[in-house]
Amino acid sequence: MYLTQDQLNQIRQSIEKQRREILEKLNERNDEAYEPEIRGDEADIANSEGIVLTMERLQSRDLRLLQKLDEAAHWMEDDDFGICESCGEEIGFKRLLARPAARQCIECKQNEEQRERGYYHPRPRRPRRDITNDEDDE
Ligand SMILES: [Zn+2]
Repeated sequence: MYLTQDQLNQIRQSIEKQRREILEKLNERNDEAYEPEIRGDEADIANSEGIVLTMERLQSRDLRLLQKLDEAAHWMEDDDFGICESCGEEIGFKRLLARPAARQCIECKQNEEQRERGYYHPRPRRPRRDITNDEDDE
């Protein structure tokens, strides 16, 4: 375990904060349950269906992140917390604080994203992104 107790506490708080934010967001969406207008022409109907689909996608993205946060909270109990599941290197305190659900170090994450987009080039490395601007799940 390369993280100090103080760092672990901060990460735990970050997990709790993100969990609360997601739960609040999900509750808000449930409160304003969306009712599609069934009158109108086909274009309107197609549009309403599009909105419902988008909201479902957003919701499942949140639920996925929520599950990852729960796993991270559980993972914190283990000695190998904060170790990249791909390369075994330390994920690092700063990244874990910003992305407590992360299971990979920033390099492995970026390599994986590049592979997914179909242009994986292990060398030369792209410049590191600022982790606070990283918009995806992790
Ligand atoms: Zn790694």
